[in-house]
Amino acid sequence: MAEKFGAPGEYARAYVIAHEVGHHIQNLLGITDEMAMLRERVSQQEYNQYSVRLELQADYLAGVFTHYIQNEGILEEGDVEAAMNAANAIGDDRIQRETQGRVSPDSFTHGTSEQRMRWFLKGFKSGDLSDGDTFSIPYRDL
Ligand SMILES: [Zn+2]
Repeated sequence: MAEKFGAPGEYARAYVIAHEVGHHIQNLLGITDEMAMLRERVSQQEYNQYSVRLELQADYLAGVFTHYIQNEGILEEGDVEAAMNAANAIGDDRIQRETQGRVSPDSFTHGTSEQRMRWFLKGFKSGDLSDGDTFSIPYRDL
């Protein structure tokens, strides 16, 4: 994270791991299976939008995790900032701009930097799993 994306800090890595654990939770909830079924039924562009919803929900869950460890008193000064910086660094728009020199929103699969930071922060502030439904709000409002 530090070298490739300029996102240093222990908690930048913790955020990435918590995001992956978020995917595991989605798997347990059956969301991953629903995504697999959708893949057969929708266009690539629509599927990309579902992928963005899935990824932003994983960011939300990483935020919820961070909320709980804050309550445990093990969150350190600068940890949330390190996670936000990491979320900012791995937004689709930023990565596309840096690697291709242009941005094509139709091919986004993880969400923009702004979206990734916002959903992480929303989970961190809320700490409530039920506020993390990224699937039932309009795509443009994500
Ligand atoms: Zn992911």
